[in-house]
Amino acid sequence: MRIQDIRQRLRAGHALPCHEERILRAWLQSLPLDSGPRRRSAENFFPKEIRAILPGLAADLAGLVRVRSEHPGEDGSARLLVELADGQCVESVLLPRDGVCVSSQVGCAVGCAFCMTGRDGLLRQLGSAEIVAQVVLARALRPVKKVVFMGMGEPAHNLDNVLEAIDLLGSENVIGHKNLVLSTVGDRRVFERLPLGRVKPALALSLHTTRAELREQLLPRAPRIAPEELVELAEQYARATAYPVQYQWTLLDGVNDSDEEAENIIRLLSGKYAIMNFIPFNRVEGSGFNRPSPERVARLAGLLHQHGILVRLRDSAGQDIDGGCGQLRARALGSSTP
Ligand code: SF4
Repeated sequence: MRIQDIRQRLRAGHALPCHEERILRAWLQSLPLDSGPRRRSAENFFPKEIRAILPGLAADLAGLVRVRSEHPGEDGSARLLVELADGQCVESVLLPRDGVCVSSQVGCAVGCAFCMTGRDGLLRQLGSAEIVAQVVLARALRPVKKVVFMGMGEPAHNLDNVLEAIDLLGSENVIGHKNLVLSTVGDRRVFERLPLGRVKPALALSLHTTRAELREQLLPRAPRIAPEELVELAEQYARATAYPVQYQWTLLDGVNDSDEEAENIIRLLSGKYAIMNFIPFNRVEGSGFNRPSPERVARLAGLLHQHGILVRLRDSAGQDIDGGCGQLRARALGSSTP
């Protein structure tokens, strides 16, 4: 289901107390920010008035998403295995400090060598309502002030639905625009369309290496755009929005953690409106990759820092529960992949 479908159904009702879009926004704003242990079920996604006017809608929404299992991590995060109406599953992550990471696709076509999600390819797109429903689900469990589109899937490959969800979430500041973060491997459609939206999210760019040939191996079906050009395109958007680009870099031992890579990053990002997020690799069975030592990670971060590049060390949330992107789903569904 897409937000458009909900809007159309709302339009079809005659006794609406106000314009359907305002109802939707009011609904989102009314969701509890501090519900604590109280959990709303999917049946309560929409307020009573809407359910009374459109009884069928509640049933549709009740079946959109449900938590199949929840896996709390030691860092305050929690991974949710979220089941969709057709039985497919995606992962959402409740992040420390009031954030949620949502999925935009079941599976992913990019096939990154270090990612479990990409191993089965793309199974299907999520509708915009299914994306928003993950936020609603999260918000029923915890406060949510930030939404990052970094879960399963490449948002650029489902851009209409992702942008529709962003538009709804960002309208009237349900979520502040810079607290909506769209992550991409780097796709020209993203750079073309984001500046045109009335809600302009922050941009995260999964770079992972400065070497084009290595990037083709690590991200085999990402668009072939040279890292230098990607940085230029991202920088234009950063300057237009005044939000820094968040570069994502999964650190793989002996692959992309050399001093030479650090020097290239310094060359590419010096003077740019950028933050580098180093994410030491989270174990994926059978991937053949390893996590660099803490000393190596600290050295790389130190080199960037010395040259004035903002760098953050991040762990993939839920790492202690062996729940890197796609692993919960693969395990729960007995995926053919290891
Ligand atoms: Fe897709 Fe992201 Fe996994 Fe790459 S890391 S395969 S883009 S979900």
